[in-house]
Order: sequence, then structure tokens, then C-alpha cells
Amino acid sequence: MDSTLENPFERVDVRRQPDGHTRVRFVVRPIVPYPRPWTFRVERKDYVGSDWNVIASDLVLGEVLLNESDERYDLLSTARYRVVLAADDLSEGLSDVVYPGMILNKQDWLIAKEVCRRKYKQMRLYTGREGTLLAPDHSSVPCDVCVSPVNGQSMDPNCSTCNGTGYLSGYSAIDYPLEIHKIQSDREEQSTKGTRSELTMSATGIASPMPEPDEYIWVDHSTGYRYHVSGPIIPESHIRGMPLVIGMRLHRISPKDEVYDVPVE
Ligand SMILES: [Zn+2]
Repeated sequence: MDSTLENPFERVDVRRQPDGHTRVRFVVRPIVPYPRPWTFRVERKDYVGSDWNVIASDLVLGEVLLNESDERYDLLSTARYRVVLAADDLSEGLSDVVYPGMILNKQDWLIAKEVCRRKYKQMRLYTGREGTLLAPDHSSVPCDVCVSPVNGQSMDPNCSTCNGTGYLSGYSAIDYPLEIHKIQSDREEQSTKGTRSELTMSATGIASPMPEPDEYIWVDHSTGYRYHVSGPIIPESHIRGMPLVIGMRLHRISPKDEVYDVPVE
């Protein structure tokens, strides 16, 4: 279990996003002495002398977006991170200890996080609607029921194992308020992910996570309706080319659609 051999990572990068998320990316060296298959976990230590706490586990891809509400907007946080590779023979390889970096310089960072903080507050108190964003869990392994070995895509939009995402663990549920603007004409159209129906709206949200058009679903807590998030995703405010607040369109999904069976917690 603790036969730690050598650091298997070529690179580990931890970056705080202006909206309070932390993005961890890592790359394994081309040749390492750990038998596959591998899983990864991310650990965090809050101060010198504290224990390492697991904050994400069973990862299979080299990227994860963490929602660390206790770390939000904390520029002075002393937290540090490491990634652990767990091999098939139960051996483990540790990365170096990494301090989080920021995408922007300090001044731009402070502006960016203030823009996000105010927008959240404004939405939470006045203009927004509480909701959940369902994002296909790209860090999960491909669904073994419906994914085609030829192109790696789900062949069954109603697959009950992965909910049609093509990833075995289906969707991750992310707390995500939205400001709803214009409600547009009723119309129906067929898409690969079922019938889009009845209602189209435009909405504003925070650009993290950045929704993938036609892949993400938003659940309106006040009505229970679910919507496909569709493009174009338009930055409404940004800093140095990095979107902070974005506009998007929402298409209401018929309550008969299987997507209503996806749990939101
Ligand atoms: Zn499937």
C-alpha cells in the first residue's frame, strides 16, 4: 500500500479560478514503474503540520475542477496540494507538493474575483434563480454499455447506466444560480439528446464551469424544469480575454424526457 516508488508526475498544476473553483491538472511521465490501470486522487493540506485530506478521488483523467467553498476568494490561503497515483498493485506514487497559482496577475485577479463575487451575491439576493448544473463527468471512465469503441461516443442517448453522457459516473451536479432574461417563442425541435420543447430563454451565469453547449443541463429549483444549455456562449464581462460572466440560451426539456431521472445531488 505504501510502497512509494518515485514521483510519477511530469507536471502538476493547481490554479485558482476567479469564481472560487480550483482547477487541478496533471500529466504522468511517459515511462513509470506503476502497473495500470491507474486512478488518481487530489489531497490538500491546509497549514504546516496538518494532515493531508483527500478532496477528490477515483479520477481517471488528468484534470479536475474542485469546488472548495471554504477556500473561495482567499488570496492568502496557505493550502497546498499533491496528487497521488494509485496503481493496480496497490503501490502509490506521490507528486511534489504544489502551491496554487493564479491565472492573472494579482491586481487583475482581485478585480476578476470581485466581479464574480458581486455577480453571485446579486444573483443570490435579487436577480437570480437557484439551480443545479448537470455536467457530464469527463473525469470518469467511458460507459461500458453504450460507448462505441470506434468513435468513443455514446450510441444511446437514453442509456440508463450513464444517462446518455457516455461517462460511467454520468453527471456531476454543480450548484449554479442563473439570471433568467428573455423568454422566447414556443417551438419544438429534435436533437440528438431528445426533444427540445416549448420554451427558450436567455440567461446569465458565471463562467466556471464553462458550460459545453448541448452537453450541460440546468435544473431550475423553483419550477423543477430542466433545460439544455445551448450556445452561443457569449462573454458578458471578461478580463484579459478570460470570461467571467457569460450569456447562454436554455431550451426547456419535456418532462417526459429521461433526463428528469438524473439525480441532482
Ligand atoms: Zn451509457
